[in-house]
Formats: sequence, structure tokens, C-alpha cells
Amino acid sequence: PSAMREVMVQAPNVGWDDVGGLDEARERLREGVELPLRHPDSFRRLGIRPAKGFLLYGPPGTGKTLLAKAVAREAEANFIATKSSDLLSKWYGESEQQIARLFARARQVAPTVIFIDELDSLVPARGGGLGEPAVTERVVNTILAEMDGLEELQSVVVIGATNRPNLIDPALLRPGRFDELVYVSVPDEAGRRRILGIHTEAMPLAADVDLDALARRTERFTGADLEDLVRRAGLTALRRSLDTGMVEMADFEAGLADSRASVTAEMERDY
Ligand code: ATP
Repeated sequence: PSAMREVMVQAPNVGWDDVGGLDEARERLREGVELPLRHPDSFRRLGIRPAKGFLLYGPPGTGKTLLAKAVAREAEANFIATKSSDLLSKWYGESEQQIARLFARARQVAPTVIFIDELDSLVPARGGGLGEPAVTERVVNTILAEMDGLEELQSVVVIGATNRPNLIDPALLRPGRFDELVYVSVPDEAGRRRILGIHTEAMPLAADVDLDALARRTERFTGADLEDLVRRAGLTALRRSLDTGMVEMADFEAGLADSRASVTAEMERDY
């Protein structure tokens, strides 16, 4: 069976307001992606060549996909999300065709942000990769050739993401490729507070709910962990009473008892 997939173009529905914390990553993407996509002529006038490829790296659940979608939306660009395992096919030549279709579609609907998740799965040889060495090597080469071909266009930007930056094939990191590295960290206390605010926005909170205190008590929680905590608190409130109109601090306490940070201090040190 062929693994060829349709290339889905999305108009992303999240923007900077949906991203909590991550101020530095956001700023880098604003300058590096949003500005050049929105104002290509200004860049052209000054003879500045914008970067073509960004690599977002950091622990899982910290908002890499969210950032890529948000920058696409804010740049008024289309968004195409894919992941390495979608591009790898054991059928000879099919991976290359899939990548060619991906970039062709991106150019067709430009300005476009292409998001490639699991970029570390494209490691040839040495194992760790999903595919056979020969396949991953061809896939890497095809992506690089497509990115090299983006030179004059400047209206297609590629954002890759990985949890394991040390596994990335160095060929992908050379100048003109994924040469802008952006660390997407677990949020600090202020970031956690903002994320809790975002994910409780549509939730009626009782007066005793203290989001500042929750932000203090959720060290190393990622955005995804915090979103999950809010969901658990909501479910606990429902379990208390289907008629309840409010989520209370006790519901968050119960949620907290069932949750913990998915990122350990040790994992964090490794980045
Ligand atoms: P992975 O490495 O596993 O692909 P990721 O870093 O791409 O993870 P996302 O998929 O962007 O993480 O995050 C998962 C969900 O967690 C998001 O859809 C969002 O709801 C929530 N989330 C994560 N980070 C943030 C953040 N900084 N602000 C608000 N919500 C966040």
C-alpha cells in the first residue's frame, strides 16, 4: 500500500495570545518569520536575506507546535504540518515524491509555514532513526535540496521541531538550512501563570481559585501539563456535581494530587 498522504493546508486558529511565556522564543520567531513574511519588500530593500529554516528544540509539551502555528497565523500565512514519519516511506522514491509535493503545495499557497515535527527521526545510520539509513539519507537530502531551492522565494519558511536536538543530522544544521536554533523551555513561574490564565479563560472559577499559588506549586510543569491540570480540575468539579457552575480551588488541589511535571530536572539539564 502506498503511504502517500494528502498535503493538508491549514489556516491556523491560534495566535500570540494563546501562547503563555516563551517570550524569547516568541520574539525570535516574530523577527525571523513573521516580519519577513509580512514585509518581504522591506527586507529586500535592505538586502537582508531572512532565514529559511528554524529548529525549535526542547522537552515535549512545551509549545513547539503551538508556536509554529501562532507565528503562521500572525504572519497571515498558511500552515502545513507534517512529521518525519509521514515523510518516510519504504517504497523506493515515494519519500522524495511526498517531500516534493509538500514543498510544491507550500509554494502554491505561499506565504506558508511548513512545520516538520520529529526532525530527529531523520538520522541516517547510527540508529535512532525511524527508517532505514538509505531512506532517511535520501529524505534528508531531498529536504535540503528543497530548502536550497527556496532561496529567491522567501515566502516559504520551514520550522522543524525536536525533543532530541543532539540526534539531529548535522547536515540539516548548516547555514541556509535549519540554522536558527530556538530553545523552547519549560515555563518559569510567570509563564506558568500566563498559561494557567489562557487555559482557564473559558472556565468559571470560584473566588478561592488562586492561579498565582498554582503557578508557584507547579515547578517544571510544561504547558501541556498545565492544560491537563486544568482539565482534571474541571472534571473533578463535574464529578462533585453535574450542576456545578464553578470550578473551585479544591478541584485544582485534587487535580494537582494526580499530576506531576512530565519533565524532570535531569531531562531539563540535558538541553
Ligand atoms: P511535542 O514535542 O510533544 O510535539 P510540543 O512542544 O510541540 O510537544 P505542543 O503540542 O505545542 O507541544 O503543546 C501541547 C499543548 O499544550 C498545546 O496544544 C497547548 O494547549 C498546551 N501548551 C503547551 N505549551 C503552551 C504554552 N506555552 N502556552 C499555552 N499552552 C501551551
